[in-house]
Amino acid sequence: MSILKLTHLNVHFPTQDGVVKAVNTVDLEMANGERLGLIGETGCGKTVLGMSIIRLLQLATKVEGKIVYKGKDLLKLSEEEMRKIRGKEIAMILQNPTTSLNPVLKVGDQIAEAIQLHQGLDKRAAKEKAIEMLESVKISSPEKRANEYPHQFSGGMKERAMIAMGLACNPSLIIADEPTKGLDVTIKMQIVKLMKEVTKRKSMLFITHDLGAAAEICDNIAVMYAGELVEYAKTEDIFKNPLHPYTRGFLNSLPSMGLKPIRGMSPSLIDLPTGCRFHPRCDHASAKCKTEHPEMVEIENGNYVRCFLYT
Ligand code: SF4
Repeated sequence: MSILKLTHLNVHFPTQDGVVKAVNTVDLEMANGERLGLIGETGCGKTVLGMSIIRLLQLATKVEGKIVYKGKDLLKLSEEEMRKIRGKEIAMILQNPTTSLNPVLKVGDQIAEAIQLHQGLDKRAAKEKAIEMLESVKISSPEKRANEYPHQFSGGMKERAMIAMGLACNPSLIIADEPTKGLDVTIKMQIVKLMKEVTKRKSMLFITHDLGAAAEICDNIAVMYAGELVEYAKTEDIFKNPLHPYTRGFLNSLPSMGLKPIRGMSPSLIDLPTGCRFHPRCDHASAKCKTEHPEMVEIENGNYVRCFLYT
């Protein structure tokens, strides 16, 4: 049974320079207990997609399509109904804990606040639960740490605190947005290991540009480019046999694969290329690729790709 199903999701928002078409006709389904990686370069729309699921976008944003969570279309819920789901049913672990944590509140109190709000515990019980959560993400001396402020935490510890906060209300679905961003290699590996451990038997949309982290944690991977999905496959298939030229280029740009960057730049989401959005950077582009837009097609075993090389 699916826990989340996005159907023809479009998310566009106005800016002074024009309309940003951040998410375009995205269809995506997550099974209960699945950990799905959403990968792509910075600015491809993946964070906006994650934020749209819990409706945390600015008011002027136009969201169209369906976001069905456990049978309910979240786009049809009132803000009050949505508030009950946010944090309790669906939790988001935001990127950049330095700006996401409140600098003037003790870390334990921030976690306890979320617990009080969603679980109806009194202040003392919520604080005790917050300490337990800090312990569960392997923060040593959790009682002492719960009474410290964010500036007293290292980068890795802040990330752990964010994970503790996300998990505090035992959500059914976690949306983790770049939890390893900006961390050094050793700390990153620790956080990846922790995320893998604490999300066992949970459903998680893991948004990242870090393919290594996604490979370690996720069952399936969806690749996003210029606001749309271009490939979806089981994690091992993506690594063994990437199909889309962008996925192949993205893999080749990893340090372990020789650090060969994809030529050119990602297009602006305000002014998307005609035809295949990847054609200005693709070594296989034909005349058709410049004018016609490829659809996502199933290749085999539930793996999908958007590229004329396969149709
Ligand atoms: Fe390259 Fe054409 Fe495939 Fe786009 S459709 S990825 S331009 S070959």
